[in-house]
Amino acid sequence: MRLGVEAALVEGRLVPGDVAVDDGRVTAVGLGGAGRGIAAPGFIDLQVNGFAGVDFLGADAAGYATAGEALVETGVTAYLPTLITSAEAELVAALEAVPDSAPGARILGAHLEGPFLAATRLGTHRMAARRDPDPALMERLLAAGPVTLVTLAPELPGALELIDLLHARGITVSLGHTDATAVEAHAAFDRGVRTVTHVFNAMRPMLHRDPGVVGAALVRPEVVVQAIVDGIHLDPDVVRLLWRVAAGRMSLVTDAIAGAGLGDGTYALGEIEIVVSDDVVRREDGVLAGSALTMVEAVRNLVAMGAPLEQALEAASTVPARILGLPQHGRLAPGGPADVVVLDDSLEVVRTLVGEEARVPG
Ligand code: ZN
Repeated sequence: MRLGVEAALVEGRLVPGDVAVDDGRVTAVGLGGAGRGIAAPGFIDLQVNGFAGVDFLGADAAGYATAGEALVETGVTAYLPTLITSAEAELVAALEAVPDSAPGARILGAHLEGPFLAATRLGTHRMAARRDPDPALMERLLAAGPVTLVTLAPELPGALELIDLLHARGITVSLGHTDATAVEAHAAFDRGVRTVTHVFNAMRPMLHRDPGVVGAALVRPEVVVQAIVDGIHLDPDVVRLLWRVAAGRMSLVTDAIAGAGLGDGTYALGEIEIVVSDDVVRREDGVLAGSALTMVEAVRNLVAMGAPLEQALEAASTVPARILGLPQHGRLAPGGPADVVVLDDSLEVVRTLVGEEARVPG
């Protein structure tokens, strides 16, 4: 099958010509013939709390199907359902419910955001369920379901040992919801941590004599920063500054909540009630509680803030795949999986392919 596109993003470069896919794989790029739009690697979202009315803390198989199908319509071909800090029983039940596969976007395992977070940087996470690093609890959570990514605060007692435990299991660790100083952050990076969850948000702010985890991450070229580029979580000038320092190692994430893709209303984030109003998501007391952002909107926002299209598309695909150490994902290349998003000139999703399955936005 030909995709009928004008060009494709291959290894960071727009290659003119059409793309052929067969049997769930890309078979050729740069083919002759007139086409429209561009094909890019499907988006990979590392932080999705919920989508299309589904909150992953309470989702069943039908919920995963609903969310997975709706995510595909926004260009996402793989994602990490993300579980925020919650009581152990609730997390275990949610992890047990994470399917290996579901209709729509691929599930690459869960992102556990907590519970080992800094009490002073919880944002919307619940204090009652927050814990200091506890290897036995971690083991019970890992036994409950597929965990791919864990966000933790490295300054907590026992955090570095927990990082070692997770790395030994092949699980990616990200620093977040943290009050770490730069020294404490560097200690975690020296231990092999290579990424930071929603940079600037829910962490010690960067000051000129106290650069914190933000400053430590930005001066280390091997560290990838994840960013919520919705125009709300980060001022556009902060995004431009990040881009100047960290283009090529900045990953877009949405931090989407159940209301994403649905518009204004009241939704659940675990046990917390949140309100979406004009695309801004807040808890009752006004604290930001995730976003109603989609990945394709994040790409458009990043381009509008000055990033080159090719690199903005990679920030939504290749870079997040690199964070997870999944080199076969986030690329569009002959022989690779046909996880592809086709975008028109306005960067609207025309079609998304997840392997064999093609989807057109409804
Ligand atoms: Zn968070």
